[in-house]
Amino acid sequence: KITVLGSLNADTILHISRLPKQGETMAMNNASTAPGGKGANQAVAAARMGAQTKFVGAVGQDQNGEMMLAALQANVVDSNHVQKLANIGTGSAYILLEEDGNNTILIHGGANQALTVSDAQNASEAIAAADVLVAQFETPLEVTLKAFEIAKQNGVFTILNPAPAKQGIPTELLELTDLIIPNETEAEIITGIAVSDDASMEENARKFRELGVQNLIITVGARGAYYSTINGAGFVPAFKVDAVDTTAAGDTFIGTLASQLELDLSNVIEAIRFSNRASSITVQGPGALPSIPNLEQVKQALAS
Ligand code: ADP
Repeated sequence: KITVLGSLNADTILHISRLPKQGETMAMNNASTAPGGKGANQAVAAARMGAQTKFVGAVGQDQNGEMMLAALQANVVDSNHVQKLANIGTGSAYILLEEDGNNTILIHGGANQALTVSDAQNASEAIAAADVLVAQFETPLEVTLKAFEIAKQNGVFTILNPAPAKQGIPTELLELTDLIIPNETEAEIITGIAVSDDASMEENARKFRELGVQNLIITVGARGAYYSTINGAGFVPAFKVDAVDTTAAGDTFIGTLASQLELDLSNVIEAIRFSNRASSITVQGPGALPSIPNLEQVKQALAS
């Protein structure tokens, strides 16, 4: 059972030949809107892996909000704790996708940023009943802190995906985090230590322990993922595939991992291998939600 506290964003993908210059008016090739947001992506990944998944979050009373709720429902994610807030828009992201595949993203937090500590309190039952609580940094930090407090009071395992990364994460939150999963850029922003060779990853793990989190996984894109937990440290290589769009690679990894991990971390290597396989499928398809695989697809890919 997984509860995700996080963001629900309507992603608008603007297909452009190149970034416009300051002051320029430029035609785009195409524009399309689809459900996204780190919270939504991670919850859908967990649900597609067969976990009973609940969402704590907020949308506005608008069309994008309806789209996000429909996306959760279509993926069997419980949306009973998604607030429908008046006078504020659903979170949105504008993805400027250039023909060469580069993307530049503008985010408007909207309803995601309007979540409050009492929303976390009102979701206490959904948090306490979960095995795992997952959160990111696209919702207010004090809400995550409250949710993690509730989780730890109830013996729920907490996973923090510190994205988008920020410096100066309160020690209080890190001490309530059982497992932190940054990518390499996020790890560097938090610890100040660039991720390159094995030694730099070990140094990151040491720094995260100093900051208050005992268990770490750093995802390193096409290379795979590094782990350092109470049971040991090592590297689990990624699967070699032809990537067409890496959107939601990290989110797939996190949602899948949350669904596969034994909470004493005894199977961390297998769980990472399984999550690497899931993400390797996500990067082979365009967009966020449409490319996230289900349990059968991952099992088949592992068997082949
Ligand atoms: P994020 O999407 O947060 O930047 P990463 O780029 O680190 O996260 O990717 C997360 C995971 O997705 C990696 O650990 C790996 O398993 C998988 N992955 C990402 N890019 C590729 C790729 N090009 N080929 C195969 N697997 C990939």
